[in-house]
Amino acid sequence: MKKVGLKDIEVINKKVLVRVDFNVPLNDKSEITDDKRIISALPTIKYLLENNAAIILLSHLGRPKGKIIPEMSLKPVAIRLTELLQKKVKMMKDCIGNDIKNEIEKMNSGDVILLENTRFHPEEKKNDPEFAKQLANLGEVYINDAFGTAHRAHASNVGIANYLPSAVGFLIEKEIRYLGELLSNPERPFTAVLGGVKVSGKIELINNLLDKADNILIGGAMMFTFLKAEGFSVGKSLIEIGKLELAKELLNQAKTKDVQFVLPVDAVIGKEFKNDTKFKTVLVSEISKDWLGLDIGERTVEIFRKIILQSNTVVWNGPMGVFEMENFSAGTRGIAKAMAECPGITIVGGGDSASAIEQFGLSDKITHISTGGGASLEFLAGKELPGIAAIPDK
Ligand code: AMP
Repeated sequence: MKKVGLKDIEVINKKVLVRVDFNVPLNDKSEITDDKRIISALPTIKYLLENNAAIILLSHLGRPKGKIIPEMSLKPVAIRLTELLQKKVKMMKDCIGNDIKNEIEKMNSGDVILLENTRFHPEEKKNDPEFAKQLANLGEVYINDAFGTAHRAHASNVGIANYLPSAVGFLIEKEIRYLGELLSNPERPFTAVLGGVKVSGKIELINNLLDKADNILIGGAMMFTFLKAEGFSVGKSLIEIGKLELAKELLNQAKTKDVQFVLPVDAVIGKEFKNDTKFKTVLVSEISKDWLGLDIGERTVEIFRKIILQSNTVVWNGPMGVFEMENFSAGTRGIAKAMAECPGITIVGGGDSASAIEQFGLSDKITHISTGGGASLEFLAGKELPGIAAIPDK
C-alpha cells in the first residue's frame, strides 16, 4: 500500500507542519554528540524550502515525562539546523499556545521555525485529541518524517493527521521502500543476520523471517540461548532461561520451513564482562563453566561471510558480540565488512548495528541504513507502525 508522499501533496506557499525525529544525543554541556538525525531530515526540509513553504518543525527529545526539563530543550538543534541550512531557524518557547500561533501567523514563505519539545506536555504521549488538534491548528498541511518514532502512537505523529491533509516525508518514504516493499518480495537468496542480547525482543522478527528468508544467521548473546537449547554448555554466557523451549521451537520451525538457521561454530569467550579480561577463541562445544561468550569466533565469521556474499538481499539487525569492547568487536566488524562487500542489496536495521557500521567507516557501502532502532525492528517484524498507518494511502 503506497502512502501519500511529500510530492503528492500541495505545499507551495503553505504553512507546513513537519514532524521530524530530532531526538539527538546531548552531552552534559547540551552539545549534540551525533547530528545524524538532523541530517536525515534535510531532504524533506530542503524540498519544502524550494517549494516556498513556511516550515514549522515539531519533535520530541528524550523522556521529559510531560514536564518542562530545560536540559531536554530543542534549542541546540535549532542552532545546528541553522548552520546546516545556512538559514535562521527560529526556536519557539513551546509547541502550542497563542504566542506560538501569533508567531506562525507572521511567517513568510521560506521561514523555518522549530517548536519546543512536544513531550514537555503529558498529552503528547497520550495521543490526546485536543492537544493534537491544537498542534494541527498551527499549520495547513502535515508531513510525518519522524521514522524513529513511527512505532509510537503519539499526538504529534498520529493524532494530528486526523485534522490536516497529510503525507509522509522523504525519510519515511525511503524506509518504507527498503524495509517494507523491498523485503516483502526480496531478491533471493535472502539472508537475515541477527544478533544483540535477547531472543525475547526478536521473536516476532524471527517468526516473520522464518516465512521469508533463505538463511538466518545468529550471533550476539542470543546465540547462547539457541546453543543451550541445542544441548551445548554455554558457561556463564548471557542466556534467557525462560526462552529455551521457544528457541527449540524456532529451530524446529526453521527445519520444517526449509530455512537454513545457522548457529556459530566458535566463540570468543572471556573470564569477565570487561575488555581487559583473559579471553580466547574456542569451539562452541568447548565453553567451560566459568567463562562467558562475548563474540562470535573467526570460523563463524568466515561461514557467515560466505553466505552473505552469495546473497542477493541481506538484512542485519543486532551486533555479533560486545562490539563496544575492542577485544570483542572482531565478529561484528567481520560481518560489517562482509555486508559492505556484498554485491546484493544490503539493509542494516537501526540502533546498535547501524552504530557499528558507522564506527567501522562502512556506512557508504550499505544500500540502506535505517534511522530507527525500535521502529525498524517492528517494521522488519512485519508490524504496522502507527505513525505510518495514520497517513492516508494513495
Ligand atoms: P540489542 O539491543 O538486543 O540489539 O543488543 C545490543 C547489545 O548486545 C550491544 O550493546 C552488545 O554489546 C550486546 N551483546 C552482543 N553480544 C553479546 C554477548 N555475547 N554478551 C553480552 N552482550 C552482548
